[in-house]
Amino acid sequence: MIPHLVTELPGPKARALLAESAQFELKSMSDEVPCVWARGEGSVIEDVDGNRFLDFSSGVLVMNIGHSHPTHVAAIREQAGTLLNCYDFVSAPRVQLAKKLVEITPPNLDRAYILTTGSEAVEAAIKIARRATGRTEIISFFGGFHGRTYMAMSVGGKAGVKRGFGPIAPGVLHAPFPDYYRPPVPGMTPCQVDDYCLAQLDLLLETVSTGSVAGVITETYQGAAGSRVPSKRFMQGLAAWCRTHDFVFIVDEVQASFGRTGKLFGFEHFEIQPNIITLGKGISCGVPCSAVVAESRLVDVLETGSLSSTNGGNPISCRAALASIEILEREGLVENSARLGALMMAEFAAMQADFPCLGDVRGQGLAIGLEFVSDPVAKTPDAALAKRIVAESYQRGLVMIAPIGSFGNVIRVAPPLVIDEALARTGLRLFREALQAASA
Ligand code: PMP
Repeated sequence: MIPHLVTELPGPKARALLAESAQFELKSMSDEVPCVWARGEGSVIEDVDGNRFLDFSSGVLVMNIGHSHPTHVAAIREQAGTLLNCYDFVSAPRVQLAKKLVEITPPNLDRAYILTTGSEAVEAAIKIARRATGRTEIISFFGGFHGRTYMAMSVGGKAGVKRGFGPIAPGVLHAPFPDYYRPPVPGMTPCQVDDYCLAQLDLLLETVSTGSVAGVITETYQGAAGSRVPSKRFMQGLAAWCRTHDFVFIVDEVQASFGRTGKLFGFEHFEIQPNIITLGKGISCGVPCSAVVAESRLVDVLETGSLSSTNGGNPISCRAALASIEILEREGLVENSARLGALMMAEFAAMQADFPCLGDVRGQGLAIGLEFVSDPVAKTPDAALAKRIVAESYQRGLVMIAPIGSFGNVIRVAPPLVIDEALARTGLRLFREALQAASA
């Protein structure tokens, strides 16, 4: 029976570890509910006191194939007993993963470079765009999130990530990203929002650019900004604008890929063709691995030795990624994400009638964002309510990530893609109860 709660929350073992965490670890990490994870299986997690929760976090949209999938675990175990690192020397797992990534991406993306973190992949993609074009500037978007290393942070469009860490890297120009719930001018239609955002790109070139733009980087939906999903019209307009100007079009798929949005890759929703994509999170589901998949015409100009990393493409990460992709394909998880994502979005949208504080429901597949407001007409953000709902959910056995978004008032619903309909409905029921309690 899920959830299955056997102690008060947090339980005694969890409280002891939380106290030690407060003593020895940084406070800078995100402000999660006090669930101390011990093990996971599918879309269920168990804490150190033996309480079993339904997982609506997937870590942080990482565990697409579910926790401790036997095929995944077997591949990792086998590789751990065989070979763990061989630096840039060629290994079969690395070559097999590169081949697989080239095979499952569009034909123009014909080279793969395997790394360890999403931020590292973003850094590499930007280096490639600069080196291949001989130009320097990178255009990115307000609200974007690309990681926390200096260049990835610099192209990001959220102040909280950068505050106190300046100066940011030079050569980054930011443009507005479509936000249909909070349009730049109140009352704008979605088409007007798209036109406004696309026009701002020309304005950047006319006003602040030095005339040396190498490329553009964007997510296909802005996760950290609160699950902002752009229209096909905007994304196609952006892709065409990059083509017209010969700018390298980098799509950061670290969060959106491997079925999370109901398609294998997020860009498939828009029928656009990136020149470079970055991958992470669900590529390997828990064993650190990331990748850049790019056009050979861009990467082949880089000299030998100009990009390299100690742990990049290590055999265990590559085996974990190969197993994850195999599971995703074999078990139809991309389709499950699309089907259950649509079902859950409809259920959340129906909750809006009873709970006007649920101002907006948006998302793709099992990457859903719920925006909470104290006044649905004025759209006044209610971060405190969102936080209470996450806390109430935890008390009922449903684990979600701390609220996010530009105002901290968006709750992300992102279960592992292996979740079945019964558990999805259990989660919806628990969420409704938590919403009821938190808004009472
Ligand atoms: N890009 C996107 C779109 C992300 O969502 C993230 C992580 N949330 C990153 C890059 C950075 O990845 P990592 O934390 O593995 O460095």
